[in-house]
Amino acid sequence: MESAPINPSAQEIADLVVARLVNEGGLANLAGANLMTIEEQTIEEVDRVTRLVMSGLLTKQCHEAEPVTACPRCDKQLIPKKPQHRALQSRRGQVDFKTDVFHCEACRLDFFPSDENTSV
Ligand SMILES: [Zn+2]
Repeated sequence: MESAPINPSAQEIADLVVARLVNEGGLANLAGANLMTIEEQTIEEVDRVTRLVMSGLLTKQCHEAEPVTACPRCDKQLIPKKPQHRALQSRRGQVDFKTDVFHCEACRLDFFPSDENTSV
């Protein structure tokens, strides 16, 4: 089996989306599809890819961000917790990813490394 290109171009990614839509997706009947159907199916599939790309980037960002060591509220030391699944709403739909979590005992709040302003 041929493996996926390590550094694919946008054209190669587009070719993969075309193959997916025609072979496995909503455009199995390509000959009978009008422009609106082609556009709708393309947007749906590309949005799915966009959410996966964002998920990958958010997970990577979490690993590359400086770990949060002090509570942004009270400045006490935070305790690392088990990584958690998190869902964010994007313009392209819900994006799920895994992130580290840090807990403040005093404030009883959890903090994520990628956004200093948000707590759960
Ligand atoms: Zn605190």
